[in-house]
Amino acid sequence: MNRKTVVCKFGGGTLSCREDFLRASRIISAKPERVIAVVSAVQGVTDRLVRSLEESRKAEGYAKVFSEEFCKTHKQVADIPEIDMLSAKLESALFNSYAGHSPRLSDYVLSFGERASAALLGHFLGKSCKVLDSESAGIASNGIYGNASCDVDKTREGFCAALDAAKASKNIVVTGFYGIDQNGNVNVFGRGGSDYSAGVITAVSGASRLELYKDVEGFLAADPKMVKSPRLLEELSFSEASELGYFGAKIIHPRTFDPISGANVCVQIRPVAKPEKVGTVIRERGEGMHVAAIASRKGASLVEIYGGGMVNSFGVAAEIFTRMARSHISVDAIATSQTNISFTIDQSSSLRASQALEALSLERPDVVWVFKVTDHQAMVSVVGGALSAESIARALLCLYRGKIGIKMTSYGASKISFSAVIDVKDEQKAVAALYSEFFSGVKSGRGNAARMAVPARAATKRKLKKAAT
Ligand code: ASP
Ligand code: MG
Repeated sequence: MNRKTVVCKFGGGTLSCREDFLRASRIISAKPERVIAVVSAVQGVTDRLVRSLEESRKAEGYAKVFSEEFCKTHKQVADIPEIDMLSAKLESALFNSYAGHSPRLSDYVLSFGERASAALLGHFLGKSCKVLDSESAGIASNGIYGNASCDVDKTREGFCAALDAAKASKNIVVTGFYGIDQNGNVNVFGRGGSDYSAGVITAVSGASRLELYKDVEGFLAADPKMVKSPRLLEELSFSEASELGYFGAKIIHPRTFDPISGANVCVQIRPVAKPEKVGTVIRERGEGMHVAAIASRKGASLVEIYGGGMVNSFGVAAEIFTRMARSHISVDAIATSQTNISFTIDQSSSLRASQALEALSLERPDVVWVFKVTDHQAMVSVVGGALSAESIARALLCLYRGKIGIKMTSYGASKISFSAVIDVKDEQKAVAALYSEFFSGVKSGRGNAARMAVPARAATKRKLKKAAT
């Protein structure tokens, strides 16, 4: 355990140009502690790599064109030999993808953004720093292409050995976003996955603090694209933050907290423009608010399955969800009744879900009578670690008054969020209505929303008492 280490993660939005890299290196150098910096790709580079995979399949010459562009983008930050080496490797990988595409090749190509930005940051930090790519840092992944997880125990072993070998360097820079499976292949952790890498590295290095530098102030109580100047959330719990990471403005990868739970780590979101300022502090066991924030997520599809076999039988849900798992479909919110199972999935999996259910309805007509998959849905959620029944009632009433049709709701035993599935065309209206329901008149800081809910509850109790007497 090394409590004198701090992990600093720099997101792509904070690394676009030479000045950004200089700023990141100043932030790191100014720290008295040993810094392990985890980096994302330069802003926009991963998106471009995704597109390059498509394009390189169509034209043989594209690999060269793209790798030259990749080289130029990074050399604008600093002209270092590592960029030439990476560009040459990228060119041959893209060239191979013209011959035949594979998930293995595509994850490898996607990792180049982080490889380049780590080399660049290492260059600005100079002699005080050792750059480790995920290969040499021992970041061990589980072999799932596109959305892998880390084998934390194996990573601990490899990473500690790498740290030991780099004892002489005050600072370490590590590539985020990908790990290496047992066959030596690259697996990426899903889009935005460098936060998760930072969580893993914090856990295995025994650091007590994880600072996430972002191009935003911190978590906001709603998406500023939908609500005018939503308030800043100064404090959140791990579960509130991962719920919001999943739904809301995608400030943080929702799996970031998995590896550090139980490790007594303090997570801070810091605005890179004011690095001394802590925008949002995230602690494992925050107090929990009645309503911390309003979040929403578009790009969902609603799956509705009706079947007679569901009444008083067993294994039906297991059968359905096994099929989803086999098709690599992640299921989000679930609701069931005696004759129906409904759930939401990402719209990108909607075709695969239809195919899997079509096959199931033919094989097991007793399980699936009819099913329906509806695209263009949004999930709007009220998130709070101590969500009360009263808050849920208010949310429902608010959506009802706004004439927003609710297709499905979900409220789990964890009581961390209440979500409603609605048409995507109503998303903005729903978020704005819920924000004004819970936050109008609330300025900023922590606890206001909680305090606000309490008098309302007390008033309800008084009314009930009065009615009973
Ligand atoms: N560069 C990757 C992405 O854009 C990972 C990250 O930014 O965290 O998804
Ligand atoms: Mg990014």
